[in-house]
Amino acid sequence: MPSNKRIPVMEIFGPTVQGEGMVIGRKTMFVRTAGCDYSCSWCDSAFTWDGSGKEDIRMLTAFEIIEKLKEIGGNTFEHVTISGGNPALLPQLGEFVDELHKQNISVALETQGSRWQDWFWSIDELTLSPKPPSSGMKTDWSKLDEIVSKLNRKSTSFCLKTVVFDEDDLEYATYVHLRYPMVPFYLQAGNGNLQETEPQLMLPYLLERYEWLIEKVMPNQDLKRVHVLPQLHTWVWGNKKGV
Ligand code: SF4
Repeated sequence: MPSNKRIPVMEIFGPTVQGEGMVIGRKTMFVRTAGCDYSCSWCDSAFTWDGSGKEDIRMLTAFEIIEKLKEIGGNTFEHVTISGGNPALLPQLGEFVDELHKQNISVALETQGSRWQDWFWSIDELTLSPKPPSSGMKTDWSKLDEIVSKLNRKSTSFCLKTVVFDEDDLEYATYVHLRYPMVPFYLQAGNGNLQETEPQLMLPYLLERYEWLIEKVMPNQDLKRVHVLPQLHTWVWGNKKGV
């Protein structure tokens, strides 16, 4: 019997295309939860944790979120991405994931890999994105080791993704890949231009950052089995929220 545990939800939107990582280009709905245990210097969703969006937080049950997803997306989707903030702070999300599965909807999750939840095992595509030095955050490697090993134990489909802004980040990304060489690895060009909302004004910058990353990764002998991606949705929508 489902409980009435409530989930702090910041945004529900879609369908749209996933702009990042292992499911890039996939048609999906987004559920963005509130709250994060990090405070990355370049966070593009700081409104989920810095207090600026607190009026928009709604405490919803799993059923209410699904109702809302259907109200917005109708019968046009079969995939939901849970993002944040850090959704891994919320043990009560397991019930939401189970309910989506019962309705034949698959579920992706994005989290930085600082906390474990048993419902990770039920996620169809899980992205762990440890944060590089430019974020100002420190990675808890033993926690990340534990999460990776638990996911491997049950053959969960997951990947690692690191955003790269500069040489130090690239070194960090290389370390992540060498520490977990068998986990599919994505390097993503960082977006340091968070104010611009006009994609056509941002594109030259984003292209330059993507090219820079490609040029760095191609000759790197430690980065062979990797994917190099831009943050696709910023090419189309800039930094607009809710798309
Ligand atoms: Fe923002 Fe993600 Fe960093 Fe949290 S972990 S502060 S949501 S970028």
